[in-house]
Amino acid sequence: MNYIIFDLEWNQAADLRTRRANRLLFEIIEIGAVKLNEKREQIDDFHELIKPQVFHTMNQVTGDLIHLKMEQLENCRSFLEVASDFIKWCGSDYIFCTWGSLDLTELQKNMDYYHMTPVSEKTLRYYDVQKLFSIAFEDRKSRRTLQYAVDFLDIKKDEVFHRAYTDAYYTAEIVKRIESDKVFQNYSFDTYRLPGNKAEEIRICFEDYSKYISRAFPDKPKAMEDREVIAARCYVCGAKTKKKIPWFTNNGKHYYTIVACPRHGAIKGKIRLRRTEQGKIYVVKTMKQVDAEGVQDIINKKNQVRKSRKERRHKKEIE
Ligand SMILES: [Zn+2]
Repeated sequence: MNYIIFDLEWNQAADLRTRRANRLLFEIIEIGAVKLNEKREQIDDFHELIKPQVFHTMNQVTGDLIHLKMEQLENCRSFLEVASDFIKWCGSDYIFCTWGSLDLTELQKNMDYYHMTPVSEKTLRYYDVQKLFSIAFEDRKSRRTLQYAVDFLDIKKDEVFHRAYTDAYYTAEIVKRIESDKVFQNYSFDTYRLPGNKAEEIRICFEDYSKYISRAFPDKPKAMEDREVIAARCYVCGAKTKKKIPWFTNNGKHYYTIVACPRHGAIKGKIRLRRTEQGKIYVVKTMKQVDAEGVQDIINKKNQVRKSRKERRHKKEIE
């Protein structure tokens, strides 16, 4: 399996009115990519600028950031042509890698805009190299800029930052420097296309937590009624757990629970409710073993909810 490390530059509407009038928020104007083989050696690259079809003035922020002028794009090929060649160039057995989580969504949105065949009908599994960098070299949690990572790993810099090919090249250099295969077990999932049904839902167990991504539900109550959504078995051994703190929410978007596995102790469950562009709801649930401090953290959250509810009630009584 090859690694396709790519980066995009995009332009956006110069003003709010143009933005509202268009289905496309970000128009891709450059694709840069590097192909690595399964030994993570570079075997090819891809780079092309794209002639804009939607926004014909360069947004100032974009222009300053990527050092591109509209005139440079006038004689380029269209997105349809470039993206078709890019997808062909990717081959048949590959995984996408990007710095951060934005590029894959924007690529798919632009492809849909031109009615191209989707890169995948299902939720796409990919590598977020920003996350891999943190897992391989730092604390797993922090998210650094590409510039930081390049300096951190002492990668030779000879081109400007923020042009699609250079950024793809640097990202590939970072991928090459990750030696542990274990790090590559940390897949990410792009939810631009959600699981279409129960069988396609994502259930994955990482080294220190598990993740579940649901299909779309019509609304929040339907999501929170679903048995698998609120299930809280032990993700390590699959055993039934004892409820210590039942699911509660502090803001209507995030839900927390603490359960106990007889063998693996306290486990924290967290549900994030996310809204799709069509207004539907899907769930990202993570389960993670926690120590006493982690349990206390959830207890504090719950007490805070109780306290603010009391305060609100009290306020009403006075009024
Ligand atoms: Zn267990």
